[in-house]
Amino acid sequence: MRNSQDIVLATGNAGKLLEMQSLLKPLGFQVHPQTEFFSEEVVEDGLSFIENALIKARFASAKTGLPAIADDSGLQVLALQGAPGIYSARYSEGYLGLPASDEQNNKKLLAEMSAFPRNRKACYYCAMVYVAHSEDPVPKIGLGQWCGEVLTAPAGTEGFGYDPLIWFAEPKCTAAEMSKELKNKLSHRAQACQALVAQFERTT
Ligand code: IMP
Repeated sequence: MRNSQDIVLATGNAGKLLEMQSLLKPLGFQVHPQTEFFSEEVVEDGLSFIENALIKARFASAKTGLPAIADDSGLQVLALQGAPGIYSARYSEGYLGLPASDEQNNKKLLAEMSAFPRNRKACYYCAMVYVAHSEDPVPKIGLGQWCGEVLTAPAGTEGFGYDPLIWFAEPKCTAAEMSKELKNKLSHRAQACQALVAQFERTT
């Protein structure tokens, strides 16, 4: 039987699960992946990272009857008016007639940015939310932002997504050239996670 401290994490991503398990364990929470309970995916039709994270968390909570945590993240490029934003995963859908993939997304980003040789600022953004139940009117929300610059060619093989193209002044490398440990300390997701955890620490 599950106890009252069980939480469902609205992701099938093993890396996110491990990170959340270790952060929330000290607070007495046992984090379970939603794949333990169901396999459907909800339509993420919000207009912001926060809305999409809430849609995922409410859905996971409704399906399981448990409190839920979900995150939503992406890259915002200043010169592109915030694109690809909430559409980061499928930025290149249909581009060159191919389905979206990290490689195609990066190719499209480089092509779009060729018009902006100097204005290269880009920020990863993450919203991480907690709902105590599926209709929770006072969700807890943690936000994180991690800003760097879009390179003109990829560098590094670690990470995923746009990591080979995003260069950070501190520690002077791309996210794909960092160790997993360092990225997990600095990233938008780590910041959002810590901001969320801090809210539990204040209220428990
Ligand atoms: P999700 O929130 O994990 O589904 O991420 C959505 C998309 O944003 C990913 O598919 C990537 O394209 C991009 N993204 C989010 N976080 C990162 C990151 O840490 N590195 C690289 N790309 C990221």
